[in-house]
Amino acid sequence: MALVNEHFLKLPNNYLFADIAKKVNAFKVMQPKAEIISLGIGDVTQPLAPVVIEAMHKAVDEMSVQASFRGYGPEQGYDFLRQAILDNDFLPRGIHLDIDEIFINDGAKSDTGNIQELIRWDNSIGVTDPIYPVYIDSNVMIGRAGVVEDGKWSNVLYMPCTAENNFTPQIPEHRVDVVYLCYPNNPTGTVISKQELRKWVNYALKNDSIIFYDAAYQAFITDPSVPHSIYEIRGARKCAIEFHSFSKTAGFTGVRCGYTVVPKELTAATIGGERIELNRLWNRRQCTKFNGTSYISQRAAEAIYTPDGKKQIQQTIDYYMQNAKLMLSTFRKLGFEVYGGENAPYIWLKTTNGNSWKFFEELLYGANVVCTPGVGFGPSGEGYVRFTAFGSHEKTQEALQRIEKWSV
Ligand code: PLP
Repeated sequence: MALVNEHFLKLPNNYLFADIAKKVNAFKVMQPKAEIISLGIGDVTQPLAPVVIEAMHKAVDEMSVQASFRGYGPEQGYDFLRQAILDNDFLPRGIHLDIDEIFINDGAKSDTGNIQELIRWDNSIGVTDPIYPVYIDSNVMIGRAGVVEDGKWSNVLYMPCTAENNFTPQIPEHRVDVVYLCYPNNPTGTVISKQELRKWVNYALKNDSIIFYDAAYQAFITDPSVPHSIYEIRGARKCAIEFHSFSKTAGFTGVRCGYTVVPKELTAATIGGERIELNRLWNRRQCTKFNGTSYISQRAAEAIYTPDGKKQIQQTIDYYMQNAKLMLSTFRKLGFEVYGGENAPYIWLKTTNGNSWKFFEELLYGANVVCTPGVGFGPSGEGYVRFTAFGSHEKTQEALQRIEKWSV
């Protein structure tokens, strides 16, 4: 008899966005004529940059000719893309990485979920709260998170990030083996200063811990003092793995491409005390379980690093950030407490009734606008909702006008 991995059964049945869809569908049954605007799920809406389209067409043409046809590529990604990443995302910031430290993937979700395979099942983990749900759920699936008690996993340290502590997670007083950090943050849209990030690197070095650093939204940073990469902090190569995504940077949510940095200096111990390079293990893992990202997607990603590509993707980022600016100013005018939205495409709004789902429903029924209930991202998200800036200008403006009418 094959036995199931029962850890899966501990996961809540419904994924947050499925719950939202259910409530929206119930509303549609009652009011079929209502035109709903969604500022909920964080998917992009604007088309791919012309350079990306051109690169993809060219790559498809190459595939049509035997001489330039490509089959399986390197599991770690093609060097043309890895080199472009080194030259553009890291070198200008004074970060010198080796090409073998870059692993191209099919988006950050896979790797942020899979990376925990590198550490033993009984390591302790810490997360900022609220949090991108993949970090915890992937640990639940292999039994590392324990059981749910009062809405929290028993083996997970939650570090609350709320308006009261200015969304700055407190460094734990005791040792945690692995810490997940995500900056700019999904869902709160807040960022971490170099000074605060340095405290985390120092904590990890002192405690022999590892930081999984999710930088999926780094392209939205506008404040020059905010770090784009944890490797801007001295010592981080010894303690951190970093995740990047082209999904939001360049509208690749449907194209699928991103990358993970696993520095060779980063090691973890065996029970016997031997130090093992995690770069070597991740390479082994990828060669076994991953057959690379498509050549076409990698050529598309390479194109965003050309001078025209950089300009074009920046225009789309600016487009979304104009939405964020308008949302911030409108919400503030209406007297709401709002956070994020300056270096990230998310606005985190403190609800007036202190209840995320109640506010979600009131907004849905009152203004026909969908937001994401903050409590779906963790216990400290209760009382907040998230709005995304990834809509079109027209829809965002209309949603804000409706919210204005509804709230006065
Ligand atoms: N990390 C964070 C914080 C995210 O919000 C997302 C997507 O919403 C991802 C990673 C995954 O992005 P992708 O798999 O599209 O690269």
